[in-house]
Amino acid sequence: MTDCVFCRIVARKNPADIEFEDDAVLAFKDNYPKAPVHVLIVPKRHIPSVMAMERGDAEILGRCFLAARALGEAKGFAERGYRLRVNCGPEGGQVVYHVHVHFLAGGRASGA
Ligand code: 5GP
Ligand code: ZN
Repeated sequence: MTDCVFCRIVARKNPADIEFEDDAVLAFKDNYPKAPVHVLIVPKRHIPSVMAMERGDAEILGRCFLAARALGEAKGFAERGYRLRVNCGPEGGQVVYHVHVHFLAGGRASGA
């Protein structure tokens, strides 16, 4: 999936400001932040969208939420909280078709 911008970041072919990594997940700063803290959490394996999600993808997407928890703790939001957002498909506002969880924090609404 070398034409996928997030696969290219996972493969270190495109630069990114990485915030968290484990064997299944990578998280990096959104390059157009919509909140004081805006991190994108992506599975390392290419899954286009929740709308293309299969049973075998359930664990890796759960790992994205565990990464969100780790980010929240590492960045000081474990008590204050944060917003997680997953845009799905054209009318859901999805632009990049490599599934990702937006981690938004640092303001009351934590982004739109
Ligand atoms: P979507 O609308 O698909 O849910 O969100 C895509 C997000 O990816 C947007 O917030 C956008 O700013 C971010 N984004 C798009 N291309 C890149 C990139 O090359 N690097 C980084 N760090 N973020 C990107
Ligand atoms: Zn991809």
